[in-house]
Amino acid sequence: MESTLRSQTISIVPSEFKKHYRLSQKCPVCNKQIQFGVELGFLRKIKRYPYPHVILHGNPIHVLIAYIDADFKIRGIETAESIEIQRNSETFSQIIKKWSNPF
Ligand SMILES: [Zn+2]
Repeated sequence: MESTLRSQTISIVPSEFKKHYRLSQKCPVCNKQIQFGVELGFLRKIKRYPYPHVILHGNPIHVLIAYIDADFKIRGIETAESIEIQRNSETFSQIIKKWSNPF
């Protein structure tokens, strides 16, 4: 983890945010440029920055974690190739919900 990933508390002014913010980051595992976004509703709830945003993608499936600061800039990244998805109806229904409305 980079030393720039210090936590800080910043209040959000909702009027400064568009409906969806989009970001792009190259994944060091698959070397692909990954596009992603965060829901405004979620941004309004964040109390501490930078916060982790997890992007599940690729074949074989892996994770890119982007740490996003209060200015909606990527402050650092991590990856994970060891993944487990819980096999229960609660998790499955949430995956389908996310799939249909990713952000
Ligand atoms: Zn990747």
